[in-house]
Amino acid sequence: MTTATTTDVEPALRLPPAKLFIGGEWVDAEGGTFTSENPATEQSLCEVAAASAADADRAVAAAQEALDGAWGKTSPRDRGKILWRIADALEARTEEFGRVETADNGKPIFESRYVDVPAAIDALRYFAGWADKIHGDTLAVQGPFSMAYTLREPMGVVAAITPWNFPIIQAMWKIAPALACGNAVVHKPASNTPLTALKFAELATEAGLPPGALNVVPGRGSQVGRRLVEHPGVAKISFTGSTEVGRGLMKDAADTIKRVTLELGGKSPNIVFADADLDAAVKGAYNGIFYGKGEVCAAGSRLFVEKRAHDEMLEKLIARTSRLVPGDPQHPKTRLGALVSKEQRESVLGYVETGREEGAEVAHGGRAADVDGKGYFMEPTILTGVDNQMKVAQEEIFGPVLVAIPFEEPEEAVSLANESIFGLAAGVWTRDIGKAHSVAARIKAGTVWINQYNWYDSGAPFGGYKQSGFGRELGSAALDYYTESKTVWVGK
Ligand code: NAP
Repeated sequence: MTTATTTDVEPALRLPPAKLFIGGEWVDAEGGTFTSENPATEQSLCEVAAASAADADRAVAAAQEALDGAWGKTSPRDRGKILWRIADALEARTEEFGRVETADNGKPIFESRYVDVPAAIDALRYFAGWADKIHGDTLAVQGPFSMAYTLREPMGVVAAITPWNFPIIQAMWKIAPALACGNAVVHKPASNTPLTALKFAELATEAGLPPGALNVVPGRGSQVGRRLVEHPGVAKISFTGSTEVGRGLMKDAADTIKRVTLELGGKSPNIVFADADLDAAVKGAYNGIFYGKGEVCAAGSRLFVEKRAHDEMLEKLIARTSRLVPGDPQHPKTRLGALVSKEQRESVLGYVETGREEGAEVAHGGRAADVDGKGYFMEPTILTGVDNQMKVAQEEIFGPVLVAIPFEEPEEAVSLANESIFGLAAGVWTRDIGKAHSVAARIKAGTVWINQYNWYDSGAPFGGYKQSGFGRELGSAALDYYTESKTVWVGK
């Protein structure tokens, strides 16, 4: 580990070296380096190694070597113990990892410290518990002398490709189940936020993970990511990212008939009925869109409010939002940080402009925000007068921008909610329990929250319907996506 100098960031921020992590050690990249920027200060944090396609090949070879060697010979129970030790080691360094995540991504330290790193630890412990409980079945087959059973085997080398919005969480939702199931992993983190992934690989090795079981190769998605997708030695791609990249990735994976799971974008509806606890719904709608700067795949970015309650709800929501002021992400009181990059802020502000051109009204925010004259901050934004067919209601904005749309009947709410290419998540707010379940059943989404929003647990599967992807992360469901089933027949 190198320690950052006072010229770039706080002296205590421990940043990884400009190297790849392959085979349990830091190695130079053939692809040179790129700069990791702090989006809140616009300052360079450090140089990061950029893997080339040849570096990706080296990482795959190291992962295969681990499967053929120490890691492949580690018993399921010992795999669980190692994962648990890694979780303990990460817990002891929560503050350090949280601060680096915040510096890299721009999210408030309140989130990194109290949600992101703890959620990553929880995923490690949850899947540590599964490691020695993954087994096949004996089968009731026909025939006088036959018996058959199934084995659940590791797939082999898993490539995990992750986005920038929840770097350590998304990484752990893949790495923890993949390792618990006995696979070896090559992780390609997002170019915007590679730092905690690199630090984590070193920490895991120090905690006892055999060399090569986890390798980290930052670099351009179109190069190193694509190489992993096409690599014949990679058995499975676990991808989280945009629907656009996911679509291309599926095509690239076709040549090798690679196992693929895709966790993609969303434009999730949050439906508030007039009989809901409006104050709770306001809080839920607010957290649903502004938590994580709205750079959240499951953000409740389309708010549907029953007409009778629309004006009151919007008035309360705007009042609450007006108290949300962007600030220094490392400050413990900050609740809205900087968007991840200049390009991302330009894209989000561009959508606000598009909304205006489409006839929406900017009821709150809508502009870049000034925080000490630096950083990619923007105001929390609410657009009203929106029609569900507008671009701002159909495309994923991926920033702190909410569109509000009134409805009259439950049927209308359901059909508006389902009028989307996405199907990641949804919220329903009502005191009528029958209506809540009936609406939840008819929404085409992988997760529906009733009278809450944005809740996750390592034991609850998460994933998409429609163009939000397929496969599930978390819960026992995730294990199916990191194992192959083999049927063994035994004759006389
Ligand atoms: P992205 O542009 O799709 O990138 C995701 C990852 O894929 C990055 O590591 C990227 O590398 C890599 N990549 C890019 N092109 C590739 C290619 N041709 N082959 C292989 N890998 C490639 O997504 P993002 O902008 O980082 O993240 C935001 C998106 O993620 C949003 O759409 C959001 O909804 C989605 N997301 C979904 C979930 C979920 O669970 N459903 C969770 C979080 C985020 P580079 O960084 O080098 O480009």
